[in-house]
Amino acid sequence: MDYFLSEEQQMIVDIARQITNERIIPKRAELDEKDEFPREILNEMAQADLFGVPIPEAYGGFGGGCFDIVLALEELGRGCIGVGTAFAASSLGVYPILISGSDEMKEKYLFDVASGKKFAGFGLTEANAGSDASGIQTTAVLDGDEWVINGTKQWITNGGEAQIYTVIAITDRSKGPRGATMFVVEEGDPGFSCGPKEKKMGIRASSTTELIFKDCRIPKDRMIGRKGTGFITVMKTLDSSRPGIAALGIGLAQGALDEAASYAKQRVQFGKPIISFQAIQHMLADMAIGIESARALVYGAAKHIDAHPKDMSKVSSMCKVYATDVAMKVTTDAVQVMGGYGYMREYPVEKMMRDAKILQIYEGTNQIQRNVIGQEINKEYARS
Ligand SMILES: Cc1cc2nc3c(=O)[nH]c(=O)nc-3n(C[C@H](O)[C@H](O)[C@H](O)COP(=O)(O)OP(=O)(O)OC[C@H]3O[C@@H](n4cnc5c(N)ncnc54)[C@H](O)[C@@H]3O)c2cc1C
Repeated sequence: MDYFLSEEQQMIVDIARQITNERIIPKRAELDEKDEFPREILNEMAQADLFGVPIPEAYGGFGGGCFDIVLALEELGRGCIGVGTAFAASSLGVYPILISGSDEMKEKYLFDVASGKKFAGFGLTEANAGSDASGIQTTAVLDGDEWVINGTKQWITNGGEAQIYTVIAITDRSKGPRGATMFVVEEGDPGFSCGPKEKKMGIRASSTTELIFKDCRIPKDRMIGRKGTGFITVMKTLDSSRPGIAALGIGLAQGALDEAASYAKQRVQFGKPIISFQAIQHMLADMAIGIESARALVYGAAKHIDAHPKDMSKVSSMCKVYATDVAMKVTTDAVQVMGGYGYMREYPVEKMMRDAKILQIYEGTNQIQRNVIGQEINKEYARS
């Protein structure tokens, strides 16, 4: 379907498509095999100004919105969502600064992230605080002109590769949800280190590590927004970023359909290409229907979010759940269409199926997203 993109939007798609076709697709199997961070490819994305898409022009970016970043991530996701995740996590890492940071803080960090000179990461999750983020144990205590942070964040994308991390910590436990605050931690801050890279099922091009704080001292002015607003900033950050995860899902599913359909045209069994069998055609048809519906929902949700509505959480969760469930189903069906060859590393669909699973887990599991949607519906109908 034609979404009648503007010239600027088409330009974002074209740039991301070129990098995907020429750089990501030829390299993705090797990155996966070697658990290798795609630094060179990310540098090329930086040169093509892709990191600047969600950053305001005043801070060296393109000044794009949620829809623009969705367009870029959909294309990257078609190639490899491991690379796409590394790219997306840098935006995720600076959303707290964009949303709640002071002008001085934006000035200090956003130029470098927009140019791709520095990467960012976002630290919320801990060993005992996954879906229930209120269980975080990391603390930050003011000591003179410095905050002293102690604790460990777990499974942080771009860990060890980023230079800037936005991190939430408890600043006043007695205040409950109003007792947490976000901070910027920089690579090299005293008392801050990253753990070893986790070994993962998929998205192996992306780096995932712990962030470890042992009496980590940072200047007082690294606090993001006001004290006690950490969870509000986290929720707004995730509402803004989830359509990007949905977009990775659409791209991934599209890539899997492309592979499965091309294979089905050339694979001959019983004297005919398998695409001539109705059972295969129906699978391909269902894959295409799922992708096109997910695309329509994600594009619609992204445009809605760009208008800064009140019901951002519901719409953002809806598109994340739907598109990522479609990605899981389509990649699984792509392996089925290709039979035993689909299961072999020689073809990309087994990687796509392994990669797809994370989309239903990170940035809030799909069960939690359904809880959010259900709670919003409950509120709406209580009012009416
Ligand atoms: C590769 C990878 C990268 C990640 N990157 C980051 C990152 O950059 N930054 C960051 O902060 N975090 C990151 N995460 C963490 C991720 O966001 C969490 O894994 C996720 O939020 C789920 O938390 P959990 O894994 O602890 O699962 P749990 O919360 O333990 O959930 C386990 C299961 O129980 C279900 N469940 C839990 N509570 C409920 C409930 N109330 N209702 C229904 N079902 C429920 C869940 O849906 C899930 O199926 C990453 C994780 C991975 C694996």
